[in-house]
Amino acid sequence: MPLIVDAHCHLDHKDFSEDIDQVIDRAIKAGLGHIITNGVEPETNRIALGLARRYAIVRPALGIYPIDAFRNEVAANEYPLKLEPFDVEEEIAFIEAHKDDIIAVGEAGLDYATGDKREEQRELFQKMIELAGRIDKPLVVHSRKAELDCVDMLDGSGLKRVMMHCFMGNFRLVRRIAEKGWYISIPTNVVRSEHFQKIVQEVDLSRLLTETDAPYLSPFRDRRNEPAFVVESVRKIAEIKQMDQKEVANNLFLNFQRLFL
Ligand SMILES: [Zn+2]
Repeated sequence: MPLIVDAHCHLDHKDFSEDIDQVIDRAIKAGLGHIITNGVEPETNRIALGLARRYAIVRPALGIYPIDAFRNEVAANEYPLKLEPFDVEEEIAFIEAHKDDIIAVGEAGLDYATGDKREEQRELFQKMIELAGRIDKPLVVHSRKAELDCVDMLDGSGLKRVMMHCFMGNFRLVRRIAEKGWYISIPTNVVRSEHFQKIVQEVDLSRLLTETDAPYLSPFRDRRNEPAFVVESVRKIAEIKQMDQKEVANNLFLNFQRLFL
């Protein structure tokens, strides 16, 4: 069986604090070759680096998430860490200093659903785009209710190595992303999300990747998501594309290598 990739998750989340060893173990047994864990601010960025030092399968992406959106998630108890005020420029310098330790810049992007201060968000995202370009790393992009602005900004930047994570935008934008040669990662909730099933249908396999966004977006109701479950995305893509699962996994792994390695 070819190597399977979870191209986006959050292993720093408190939901993994009790059994991270077993989570990693199950991922290896499920056939995963790489797990990309994403930091979103200083504390989680450092945890991501620590996890990568501890587990060979874990590759860290460091980012700065739309700050207000993150603050709201923390306030709503969706994210376990307190958001301490921090200096954006200092954190960008930290990421840059660790460029040889990381596989990507991210998670970064725009979130107009839970975050306000749109102009500030765009300024920060522009800095993250420039950072990715400067250190020559792929950019992992989050966009919520801000898909057009995200795609426009990326397009204007000329950045080539881009992964749109959990992309909920319309199909005109989906096609634009594919035409740009960027990638769309298919989360495990594709097993029931018609939106992602349609993306799989419409987008060429050469533009797709798989992710869990664990602990979120579980393929199983009422069950925490974890990297091993990314197999469910591969299975669903194979079903929709009417291809052999192994062949799909092979293609997806090639995509991962092209974008990230
Ligand atoms: Zn995420």
